[in-house]
Amino acid sequence: MALVIRGFPPDYTRAVRQALSLITSRLTHPPGPIPGDLLTEVRAIISGRRPTVDLVYGGDQGVCAVPYSRSAGYRVLLCKRTFMPANDGHPRLPAVLFHELIHIARGWEMDAEAFENAWFSPAEGARPPTRGDWTTFKQQDYQGWWVHMDPQTRRVTDYADRYILTFPAPQ
Ligand SMILES: [Zn+2]
Repeated sequence: MALVIRGFPPDYTRAVRQALSLITSRLTHPPGPIPGDLLTEVRAIISGRRPTVDLVYGGDQGVCAVPYSRSAGYRVLLCKRTFMPANDGHPRLPAVLFHELIHIARGWEMDAEAFENAWFSPAEGARPPTRGDWTTFKQQDYQGWWVHMDPQTRRVTDYADRYILTFPAPQ
């Protein structure tokens, strides 16, 4: 694999591998439309036809004091809270990791949020966009790299005009 998993406690390493196998099976049988180049890109990140991507454990201090995860360049930082049971009793890991892989594939916030919520359930860690995400959407003119949203209806479509999902109204 082109993914290098570094610095996690052993049980978290297992959790990361399980999340990657769930993501891989979803990429094998896409639950909905996805632009072909995005699908190719995320598959390549996981299966090895890309430069190395580091998955690094961030603990719960410093940059991990608040967020679940962060990505930059070819590096994904997964914070401790991503592995802890959330309110519904399930860790957010699978959906959070998928979200960050979309960023690694050049996706903007709208792309990452759209496919996180269209492809993963709340029990798999998906969460609707936060207030902060909505601010980012507006700043980016309701565009992603592959998708865009009608701010009136919150309906997200891809560049081929295929329906992806409709976001709930911001809380
Ligand atoms: Zn993001």
